[in-house]
Amino acid sequence: MILPKATRLTPEQLTEVTGVVTEFGCKIQQIVGAVRTIYAIVGDEREELMINRLEGLDYIDRIDRIQSPFKLMDKRSDLASHRITIGGVTLGEELFVIAGACTIDPKNPNYFYETAAAVKESGANALRGGVWKPRTNPYSFQGDVKSLDILMEASRRTGLPVDTEVMEEAHITLALDAGVHTLQIGARNALNYSLLRAVGKAIAERDTVVLLKRSIHMGPLSEFISAAEYIAAFGNPNVMLCPRGTTPTLDGYRNHPDESITPLLKEKTWAPVVVDPSHSVGKATYVPAAALAAVAYGADGLCIEAHVEPTKGIGDDPKQALTPEVLRKTIAQARQLWSIRRE
Ligand code: PEP
Ligand code: MN
Repeated sequence: MILPKATRLTPEQLTEVTGVVTEFGCKIQQIVGAVRTIYAIVGDEREELMINRLEGLDYIDRIDRIQSPFKLMDKRSDLASHRITIGGVTLGEELFVIAGACTIDPKNPNYFYETAAAVKESGANALRGGVWKPRTNPYSFQGDVKSLDILMEASRRTGLPVDTEVMEEAHITLALDAGVHTLQIGARNALNYSLLRAVGKAIAERDTVVLLKRSIHMGPLSEFISAAEYIAAFGNPNVMLCPRGTTPTLDGYRNHPDESITPLLKEKTWAPVVVDPSHSVGKATYVPAAALAAVAYGADGLCIEAHVEPTKGIGDDPKQALTPEVLRKTIAQARQLWSIRRE
């Protein structure tokens, strides 16, 4: 929909606008109102270059797009009935919980094995464990490929599918070859289009699932959904959207909690929303409330950091990991709330 700055286009302007859209196989339909005339673009209006050229005309106020820029992830797309299943659990049919350590300590694998057993016992559906870690400080522990073996051994021992973050193409290959079920794209890389494409290509022929975190730099929700579209465009649309807090604005929370975007995402996309309350609030004492808030907002799942002995953990675990006892209680309450929402 083209909205001119003036109440209507002059005949010369209309000719110019018609010329642009015709180049892209579209037509103009005038909608004449009492006060102003607007101009509908008839045809596929998703062509970015066409919109840019129209927006570049100095007599155009703005272009409102009716069609979604994300063809596959849109709620109105043919994929709207697509369901994602991980380890036998279908997202949307029960609350899907991923839990586990922020970072696997390769020197003390038993902490992760014990954490994995506690995660299983808590009723979670999948196990998380960071092998490679994006760290703000270049001198902090960056992860270790040895932890991949520990992650897969924990998966075998518990029977739980596993999630780990990948930051470069080499990680993708290693993780997929090892049998990782869910590739996580972290908040720092959610706008890294080369990585999104690489993940999309790598999983195209598999049933691997991606947990796509929301970048703290993302603005409109369409930016988040479009990042998922980058992956889905290669053929595997198994992408779960993970709000995890955005730019910090509150003293006390690590990031600005954003679980409240869940219903807004669900209006636009069929993709399941799996909220990460741990990175959002960043402190173990606040995590249970944030987890329940996410479920109250309609989240399909939760991704929670937990550790059998948080003070002995590395990465984020000493600050934000739940103990097994708190994890168990949080999951039980979250599942109750999930059922209440469906009454
Ligand atoms: C993590 O999951 O441990 C992590 C680093 O997450 P984020 O990318 O959301 O910061
Ligand atoms: Mn973490």
